Amino acid sequence: MIQEMTSTEDVVAALRRCDAFVMISHVKPDGDTLGAGLALGLALEKLGKRVCYYQQDAVPRTLRFLPGAERISSTLPANLPEDTLYVFCDMSDMARAGTHVPRLSPENVLDIDHHLGNGLFGAYNYVLPTECSTGTCVMHLLRELGVQIDAGIATCLLTTIMTDTGGLMHSNTSPGALELSAELMRLGADKEKITREIFSNKRVAATKLLGRVIGAMHFSHDGRYCWSAVDDEMLSQCGADGEDTEDMVNVLLGQEGVEVAALFKAYDGELRVSLRSTGRVNVQAAAASLGGGGHFRAAGLDCSGTLADAVKSVDSALVAQGL
Ligand code: AMP
Ligand code: MN
Ligand code: MN
Repeated sequence: MIQEMTSTEDVVAALRRCDAFVMISHVKPDGDTLGAGLALGLALEKLGKRVCYYQQDAVPRTLRFLPGAERISSTLPANLPEDTLYVFCDMSDMARAGTHVPRLSPENVLDIDHHLGNGLFGAYNYVLPTECSTGTCVMHLLRELGVQIDAGIATCLLTTIMTDTGGLMHSNTSPGALELSAELMRLGADKEKITREIFSNKRVAATKLLGRVIGAMHFSHDGRYCWSAVDDEMLSQCGADGEDTEDMVNVLLGQEGVEVAALFKAYDGELRVSLRSTGRVNVQAAAASLGGGGHFRAAGLDCSGTLADAVKSVDSALVAQGL
């Protein structure tokens, strides 16, 4: 396996050379993985390329407004050429794309990402961990490619920035991220729509669920750690579903004195954990020690076993990182 970073010029040469593309986003998709793939795909289509958009899960309600979202499918056409380039957006390893992706040779893989510890799993790896979103990595590629960013592409790209920076609030909101955001607004990105669809306009069921999550908060380690949990019963009692838990972990992190927060999501036959840090404790390292991944201040993992086991092992992994 070739495990190297690829230069912007070499990635762009591969984009020009190939005629067919499949844009692949990670399971439980967010605004970055979908927005980045759609932006690059829509731009490649302007160059006359054939592009498909693949996602194993359904597109979340809050992201269906994304230009091109209606094109995203959980199946692939049978007649794709052999030299199709499969573009994985916003994931540190291929497994994050789910279990239904066909077996691929690395030669056919372009990995575009900004996660710490990306496995450089493609023949082409465009991995920039200092970027705030995978979408801004795509923006650098589009500039080199010389494609005009239209209003739809700009909306996709601004969505990647706004979702991965928590509405331009997280520490990854660099001056560069703000400059790119301003440029995207000038190109016609619909910031009001992004704000309305993703950040405001909450379902009442989601707000009721948030009340339950807040009611179940646990504090430990002298108030530096806050965790809570959601299960199937809480969801059904509130009339909510898993999509309504998006971002709730940030409410836990926002409590006075809290440095690390965890939300345990035990529903739909799975147990997943979202971790967030204010910057002293590396939650990516804690998650990676338990088979997950992410960024220094935002990470996640999948667990097997009981909720009580998961709470215990996450606590130990966080203590090992200095909690
Ligand atoms: P989330 O808490 O689901 O919003 O995820 C926070 C960050 O952790 C994102 O960058 C995810 O890509 C990453 N992440 C979440 N779950 C996993 C996992 N099971 N394996 C690797 N990375 C993950
Ligand atoms: Mn993501
Ligand atoms: Mn991302």
